[in-house]
Amino acid sequence: MNFQTKPLTPGLYFVATPIGSARDITLRALDILASADLIASEDTRTTRKLMEIHGIPLGDRQIVAYHDHSGEKPTTRLVDAVGAGKSVAYASEAGTPLIADPGYELGVAMADAGYSVTAAPGPSAVIAALTVSGLPTDRFAFVGFLPSTEAKRKSTIADLRSWPATLIFYESPKRIKGSLCDLRDTLGGERQAVVCRELTKKFEEVSRGTLAELADHYAKRDVKGEIVVLVGRGDENEAEQNSVEDALRDALKTMRVKDAATAVAGAMGLPRRDVYQLALDLGKDKP
Ligand code: SAM
Repeated sequence: MNFQTKPLTPGLYFVATPIGSARDITLRALDILASADLIASEDTRTTRKLMEIHGIPLGDRQIVAYHDHSGEKPTTRLVDAVGAGKSVAYASEAGTPLIADPGYELGVAMADAGYSVTAAPGPSAVIAALTVSGLPTDRFAFVGFLPSTEAKRKSTIADLRSWPATLIFYESPKRIKGSLCDLRDTLGGERQAVVCRELTKKFEEVSRGTLAELADHYAKRDVKGEIVVLVGRGDENEAEQNSVEDALRDALKTMRVKDAATAVAGAMGLPRRDVYQLALDLGKDKP
């Protein structure tokens, strides 16, 4: 038996569960699932099955379905249960609750009511993918799922172009071809990227290459399963250049080129000569 049953302090416990391999669960997560007075779950069948695999009896405890869109009544019911001194464990279908999964509304409601919110941390596809990607891990931005319409998807990607961080997206097999093409077209085909599929599962696959290579590769094959896409960081100089340009454009609305350059160079601690050259270029469009 890998778990212990012990009384828990009243409160909400967010429990991370496996993203594939059923044994990827912490001992503390098992303790909480074994001990909580009430279990709430995005998918009661998956949670029940997970408990069965680990030999955790449900006993006469309840396991209730809960999503963020479940509405006020189910939220109030869980908040009231904690108010009455109970411990509530919440698990999403897979991975860490709240990470592209429900739980946010419940956590906020508990915190607003002044009750304790605790995490039993564990697997999350974003971290597993980053770990195996080979891309820089010191700064990363989790974007979650991209919008489903092409125009919105492209504008979301364009906003991320110069972020100096590894970008991480969740994707579905149905949309991977389109998303890789949009990423290539918007961020540039030469950016390094990684596609992670079915992590921790039997058919785990990690494909590395440039966005152009990966878009080509996936255009030629249909894939199944769960996918994370990671893209290497944007150019910090490009980011800096963009912010200098934005500041100059703003300044040029009210100032002459020379004054705008002096103001922006001073504010950003940059050599005036370089900023002046940029201001001259931008100022050309000025009537
Ligand atoms: N809460 C989960 C977590 O912490 O990762 C994510 C839930 S979200 C609804 C599901 C998405 O996560 C999938 O569409 C896929 O993009 C990603 N994902 C989940 N499990 C995965 C796995 N084993 N391999 C690759 N991606 C996975």
